[in-house]
Amino acid sequence: MRAHTVILGAGATIAAIPKGDKYGRESSVMNGLIKKLHLEDILSKVELKTASDNLEDIYSELYLRPECKEVLSILEQRLYDYFSSLQLPDEPTVYDLLILSLTKKDVIATFNWDPLLLQAYVRCHDLTNNLPHILCLHGNVAMGYCKEHKEYGSTDAICPVCHKFLSPTKLLYPVADKDYEKDDYIKGCWEATEWVIENSYMLTIFGYSAPSSDKKAVSLLKKSWGDLEKRNLEEVSVIDIIDEDAMLEKWSELIYTHHYRYTNDFYNSYLGMFPRRTCETIFATFQLNVWADNQKGFKPGMSWDEVKDKISPLIKEEHETPEGKNYSLYYSAI
Ligand SMILES: [Zn+2]
Repeated sequence: MRAHTVILGAGATIAAIPKGDKYGRESSVMNGLIKKLHLEDILSKVELKTASDNLEDIYSELYLRPECKEVLSILEQRLYDYFSSLQLPDEPTVYDLLILSLTKKDVIATFNWDPLLLQAYVRCHDLTNNLPHILCLHGNVAMGYCKEHKEYGSTDAICPVCHKFLSPTKLLYPVADKDYEKDDYIKGCWEATEWVIENSYMLTIFGYSAPSSDKKAVSLLKKSWGDLEKRNLEEVSVIDIIDEDAMLEKWSELIYTHHYRYTNDFYNSYLGMFPRRTCETIFATFQLNVWADNQKGFKPGMSWDEVKDKISPLIKEEHETPEGKNYSLYYSAI
């Protein structure tokens, strides 16, 4: 069975911590940034031409003004520190469930800088090591990298080859013309993401608004998915809070007529309804006419014990499946 690739944007982090992080801090600073990062004092020294309080607008302007170099580096440091400080609440979040809804053949490619997805990965790893790969397309405050051996993992991990601590990865800041080639780690993530999208059976876009400063990113994603005519049996899903018409317009080059699912929340997505068997279930439903029971998946407000009860039969089945064979149709309604 081919891969399920999930692309994450800021909306996914908001869905993961709707009431803020463990200490009530909000996840998104894209709007109202100056206040949230206490930048009033620093920015009072420069006269911003933009009236916007959106990070991308402010950053792009400072970046283009050489005299603002110092302010820009303070802004970068504050952003880095702010995102580094975020912590997952103790109870299971949508990020935990997202990670547990996929297996090692799958990939989560995220545009987010916050450490929450990686924190979720670390605690889900206590339940199973059959987990998806995580690629950080704009860098991440919790991701470390060994340039020499191309190994990556959380910043507190060591490189398995040279046994040195992994160095923090750089963040790719929001300027219109982003250079995806310059940083070794980010370049590698893009190459891997393009390859895996090309070879995926399912693609889900979760909370990614494709902002105008990400034009290049969006065209890379569309190019990797390739010719829609050849993708007519595959499935694209979008989890977002924008309305369906706006979504269809935005992702028109990715979506083939009726072969898509659109939902406002994770629990109604294929990932939430058919965790750990999304590709198997969708293949069986659309190609083999085997109907699926969509009531066996994750539910909002589940405790860790309930999550474990939900996934343990699936994990057991995975252990019993010979390497290279497909997992059984766990969600079959028959
Ligand atoms: Zn190394």
